[in-house]
Amino acid sequence: MGIFLRLTRIPLSSSGILSQCPHHNTLSPAVIRHILAGAPTRKNHSGRGPDHPVISAAPLRKPFSKVTKEDLSFFRNLLPGRTITDPDLIRSSNIDWLRTVHGNSEILLRPKTTEEVSEILRHCNKRNLAVCPQGGNTGLVGGSVPVFDEIILSTSLMNQVITFDNISGILTCQAGCVLEKLSHFLEERDFIMPLDLGAKGSCQIGGNVSTNAGGLRLLRYGSLRGTVLGLEVVLADGRVLNCLATLRKDNTGYDLKQLFIGAEGTLGVITAVSILCPHKPKSLNVAFLGCSSFQHLLETFQCCRGMLGEILSAFEFLDASCMKLLEKHLKLSNPITESPFYIVLETAGSNAAHDEEKLHKFLEAVMTSSLVIDGTALWSLRERVTEALTHDGYTYKYDISLPVEKIYDLVQDMRRHLGDKAKNVVGYGHVGDGNLHLNITSPSKDPRLLAAIEPYVYEWTSQWKGSISAEHGLGLKKRNYIHYSKHSEVVALMGNIKALLDPKGILNPYKTLPDNMHR
Ligand SMILES: Cc1cc2nc3c(=O)[nH]c(=O)nc-3n(C[C@H](O)[C@H](O)[C@H](O)COP(=O)(O)OP(=O)(O)OC[C@H]3O[C@@H](n4cnc5c(N)ncnc54)[C@H](O)[C@@H]3O)c2cc1C
Repeated sequence: MGIFLRLTRIPLSSSGILSQCPHHNTLSPAVIRHILAGAPTRKNHSGRGPDHPVISAAPLRKPFSKVTKEDLSFFRNLLPGRTITDPDLIRSSNIDWLRTVHGNSEILLRPKTTEEVSEILRHCNKRNLAVCPQGGNTGLVGGSVPVFDEIILSTSLMNQVITFDNISGILTCQAGCVLEKLSHFLEERDFIMPLDLGAKGSCQIGGNVSTNAGGLRLLRYGSLRGTVLGLEVVLADGRVLNCLATLRKDNTGYDLKQLFIGAEGTLGVITAVSILCPHKPKSLNVAFLGCSSFQHLLETFQCCRGMLGEILSAFEFLDASCMKLLEKHLKLSNPITESPFYIVLETAGSNAAHDEEKLHKFLEAVMTSSLVIDGTALWSLRERVTEALTHDGYTYKYDISLPVEKIYDLVQDMRRHLGDKAKNVVGYGHVGDGNLHLNITSPSKDPRLLAAIEPYVYEWTSQWKGSISAEHGLGLKKRNYIHYSKHSEVVALMGNIKALLDPKGILNPYKTLPDNMHR
């Protein structure tokens, strides 16, 4: 086994990738209906409450009002030049990043202020008009685009930093700030955002909070549920809920902001966020390593936690099938010996000499024990797997969390289960968080393949007490499978909260909650 040891200290602002849209067929709601069909009543093996029928049909349009001339003149008056009705300009906002979900909205609103969002929602609520909040439109579960003719409320022009305190590291900004722009803003001030993801060039902080995005730094800095200190939210009836605290400690009653983190735009529109940002690490190292089995990869992770401790900031993996797709579709070359599994490991610390010494010792240990075959430095291979997959055909995407020792069993089992029905079955993800991205490609959309994957994948996950959506949310595509991860009492309470905050159900209808929960 060859042993190569090359460490690279990398600049913090590695460039964001947001690929061009893949060339897939876009599906109309009718086709989505077809795709979603075929998931019969299933037993829930999680032991989480009674069995639930999986409602398989795509949603039917709810009896919302249609936009009238009077509505249009109200919006034009409120948002002159920012009420978009030109179909060519709206097209891209009606289609999701994966190009698998296609809405038919005829109106796109682009407010700049909280007051404007409030006026819009007050009017829509009064008129019973449905609204789809949209950030960077990089969501992967069909939550960010309308299903029918919902009004698209884009936060793209709400892109101002409000304050930054360089003693506490607390940033307060409008919801439409693009993640990468915030990262650059902070790096100039010696801080970083506590989250980073492959979509950073387009996704917005409001969208990140609404999906409770995980990403590449969660292992080190934790989830947004901990780093978000405050939110400003406009409720369905236009009331502005000011929870925009900048305090690290505040135990005065219920922590209402948590309701909106991960709510996917179904409970309110987030208009501003305050977030605790860590200091920019002085030294950053990345290592790309090869392993001969998933068991070795897990042992490397254990060893890494022990030896790198506080400087470990990311531990990601991809399998050999992902590497082949990166080589084939993006012409990226594998910098190390071909291996069944690859690890991307990052350290972030304050003392370069100390960090490098620790990393060297760790690499020496894993290489001499043959846990790791080979290594060099490279982040882009891990960051661009999502993009490479979009060039491989129609992709069925699953974002699963499981006990870490089980995560790759699902990929292997799925390969056996699907046989030659699938073009590729690949696994990658965040080992440190027990989060697998299972992706199955096919030359084109294939209802027969889908019927073989679902609900099998959800039953498998539920059996191991995993989550059917670790970080992408439920959106349109997974809403009816919530019972595989949540007890029925919990889902019922979610429905009550939705009814309390949005009694007419105008905010992002058909998303997140199962169909029988929407009004
Ligand atoms: C290449 C690539 C890599 C990715 N990597 C990761 C990853 O590592 N980890 C991860 O978690 N996700 C990842 N994603 C998924 C996606 O980027 C995240 O879900 C992201 O947080 C979405 O942000 P957005 O601004 O694009 O939101 P959108 O896609 O526009 O919206 C997502 C959801 O949030 C709602 N929403 C948006 N803005 C608001 C608001 N202001 N108020 C209320 N609701 C709102 C929308 O209605 C929708 O339901 C990746 C996506 C791509 C394309």
